[in-house]
Amino acid sequence: MAERTLRGTGATPRSGVGTVVWYGRDISLPDPDGEVDPEAETERFADAVETARAELEAEREATAERVGESEAAVFDAHIQFLEDPTIEDAVETSIGDGVDAANAVDDAFGGHIEQFEGMDGRMAERADDLRDVRDRLLRLLTDGERVDLSDLPEGSVVLAERLTPSDTAQLDPERVAGFATVTGGRTSHAAIFARSLALPAVVGVGDELESIEEGTEVVVDGDAGTLLIEPDDDEREAAAADSGAAVVEAAVETADGREIEIAANVGRPEELEPAADRGADGVGLYRTEFLFLDRETPPSEDEQYEAVREALDTFPEGRVVVRTLDIGGDKRIPYLDLPEEENPFLGERGIRRSLDPDTDLFATQLRALLRAAADGAGDLAVMFPLVATVEELDAALAALDDAVADLEDRGVAAERPEVGVMIETPSAVFMADELAARVDFLSIGTNDLTQYVMAADRENERVGDLHDPTHPGVLRAIHRTVEAAHDGDAWVGMCGEMAGDPDLTELLVGLGLDELSMSAVTIPDVKAAVRETEYSTASERADAARLAATRSAVHDTIDT
Ligand code: PEP
Ligand code: MG
Repeated sequence: MAERTLRGTGATPRSGVGTVVWYGRDISLPDPDGEVDPEAETERFADAVETARAELEAEREATAERVGESEAAVFDAHIQFLEDPTIEDAVETSIGDGVDAANAVDDAFGGHIEQFEGMDGRMAERADDLRDVRDRLLRLLTDGERVDLSDLPEGSVVLAERLTPSDTAQLDPERVAGFATVTGGRTSHAAIFARSLALPAVVGVGDELESIEEGTEVVVDGDAGTLLIEPDDDEREAAAADSGAAVVEAAVETADGREIEIAANVGRPEELEPAADRGADGVGLYRTEFLFLDRETPPSEDEQYEAVREALDTFPEGRVVVRTLDIGGDKRIPYLDLPEEENPFLGERGIRRSLDPDTDLFATQLRALLRAAADGAGDLAVMFPLVATVEELDAALAALDDAVADLEDRGVAAERPEVGVMIETPSAVFMADELAARVDFLSIGTNDLTQYVMAADRENERVGDLHDPTHPGVLRAIHRTVEAAHDGDAWVGMCGEMAGDPDLTELLVGLGLDELSMSAVTIPDVKAAVRETEYSTASERADAARLAATRSAVHDTIDT
């Protein structure tokens, strides 16, 4: 057994073994009471800003080439923070008051970082960006040294208090065996990046992580959410051998011949190739709101066209399901300046925001999609998020007709894609027959559907037991949706996290899902599980599971 086990939140269901490399701040500030020459310090600050800008521009270019344009956009945000006049003024005023440049930078950024930390969701992640810029300046002002994350020895496990977006963008999955951080949750930038690269990772370990010495051998178990310190031979070998199931390039069917489409959930262009490499048949959910993050203005119609076109060209034989913009709830976009809502998960989210007459974001996005459908290699499908009423669907379909007419009038090539609705609200479940009659497919978003069926916040650990899609109430909602889709000649998929759990594949196949869409990392495991499933048996067991009265009775049927 390992000498010690630390617990956190698993970010990627993969294990890796390696040697600890600490990535820390490594910066000691000068004595704040020391002698200061304000003129010289102002000049040192200006030089540090210049050098930092040059470094950021170079890193931006390298990241755009190695990872992708949208990941590189993080550096634009950093350059903007670097040039922020409020911060610059605050630093210069402090220096004028007799503070050295390094302490002045530390103070000026400190206040802003605290402000962002006090906000929700993605705004809080801006604090990471600010820390990143502050540390870069402090390194330059204090001659601090930092480990180069892009050039680590093979088999390194990176431990850090936190990893910022630009840190994670530098990690090379070929060399790094995994990482663990003191802070962070499943939806932090670092965790999302780890999943898209299938990098073993555990976040939110807490202060105990600091006790692990450089050079220690550890296992990062991103499935169990544990860090094993000084593992024994069996633990080391199990982690080293964990590369998951073998990749299956072809479409898969159950042992008795029912074909199940296995697709990938993506949010950025750089996630497309890894998804194809892991055997995705296509894309089952393109979260287009990610294209709107980490920038200062919305992407243009042409930029959106390019992003979707790239997805269609990555899967020339497959289908790419693009979800129209799903903002609101936990997904905020600062530059859109949306009104604060008391209860954002029950507010103007998803299709509600797209249909708001004050915005032309929806029309722009639809034009980009229709143009990409005409030019791209694969088949495009478009779906609308958080639909609750038939009226909303009718309005969205009318907007699609308008976009087609608009492009035709201008003589621009456009193709009408397959159209679908996400089933994420109880109302959509009850109205699934009416919705299915109007579209080609339904896609069940179990993350939100579970939250609304169970009245349990998807982000609140305290009600985590209730936010579980294996409660019979949720299974019955899924069953009802599948029946309504098939009765209305529509196909039905699932793109919530539930679809990517190989332990639930038999249940989902048995419930009648035609397609399952998930993070790329679990695709090989789910394809393997589909091949082992006998549809006829799965269907009987799924009936028993959904008719059970309690979650534990559901598990008795699916775990045997
Ligand atoms: C869902 O709600 O299940 C879903 C796939 O959408 P998101 O997680 O992006 O809200
Ligand atoms: Mg959702």
